Amino acid sequence: MTKSFQAMMIEDVGGKPQAGLKTISLEDLPDHDVLVEIACSSLNYKDGLALTGKIRIARRLPMVAGIDLAGTVVESRAPEWKPGDRVLVNGWGLSETEWGGYSRYQRLKPQFLTRLPDGFDMQQAMAIGTAGYTAALCVNALEDWGHIQKSDKPVLVTGAAGGVGSVAIALLAKRGYQVTASTGRASTHDYLRKLGATAFVTREALAAPGAPLQAEDWAGAVDSVGSTTLANVLAQTEYGGGVAACGLAGGADLPATVMPHILRSVALLGVDSVMAPQSRRDRAWSLLAESLDKDLLAEMTNVHPMSDLPQLAEAIIAGKTQGRVVIRIE
Ligand code: NDP
Repeated sequence: MTKSFQAMMIEDVGGKPQAGLKTISLEDLPDHDVLVEIACSSLNYKDGLALTGKIRIARRLPMVAGIDLAGTVVESRAPEWKPGDRVLVNGWGLSETEWGGYSRYQRLKPQFLTRLPDGFDMQQAMAIGTAGYTAALCVNALEDWGHIQKSDKPVLVTGAAGGVGSVAIALLAKRGYQVTASTGRASTHDYLRKLGATAFVTREALAAPGAPLQAEDWAGAVDSVGSTTLANVLAQTEYGGGVAACGLAGGADLPATVMPHILRSVALLGVDSVMAPQSRRDRAWSLLAESLDKDLLAEMTNVHPMSDLPQLAEAIIAGKTQGRVVIRIE
């Protein structure tokens, strides 16, 4: 077995977190029960925050970054996992409190692992990654709320050309909903049409403060932007609709009123992927297996080596990446 290998490590440099590739060995890894050889990871907005240091994600340093991983079990002291098992991890505190996926090997707590779902190879699982699995959690939240199935209005997806947005559009369109995409990049319209969007709203149209109740344009929405955008989306959702909110790409505030909720019974459905229980994860992955077209997944995916992570992290925070980024671990 390889004794030393590369990992993207966040360290304390002069009181500030700083990311860089380091050579480490198996002895450096935490003493958890399952050793996984990682084939690939992915880049999510949160990875961008961690690597650029824009928001402090790692709660202790040094920290191996990467909130996702897919790989093969090499050693296990846990009865439920055997060498050769193909697994993935999304969230569970990776890159926050637990060493993460930007590393050739990682030791993990057994309860963090999910068996690689049938029908996906490791690269496809990471093309989905946390962003895609969160999009599936959002679609499940909307369908569980139960309004979009009955409405003839479109479902709005904000941050449309990003990771969560791209997968959400592909899933919603495949499940038969009309999808309107809100994007700040007109250059992505052809791409978003391929995924299944049939109409567009500019990012700017949702970014300016609006009235507490506006025209009821949407049956529901998946929002990865937050802030004024989310406030407007709530104000534009029709009576009885739901908005699955998972992100803060436009800001963590929510300058809204209670009016959509108390006068239109609009639901704000909060979606967390990091600590979601296994049953909810399994439902999300089942939805992805059922409703995510593999050709579209390939269309929205770019593959990069770990050495590209510093530039990619800057790009995702600047809103310049499109779709999903898979990180190949060598
Ligand atoms: P991406 O960067 O891939 O997508 C975010 C998209 O938001 C961008 O592509 C862009 O879309 C839009 N955007 C970027 N900056 C701004 C801005 N200042 N104002 C308005 N829109 C903006 O990130 P991810 O898809 O990985 O994540 C999206 C969000 O969801 C992040 O905030 C992330 O933290 C959150 N998230 C939360 C999870 C949870 O568990 N709750 C899990 C996964 C993600 P466009 O160019 O089309 O306008």
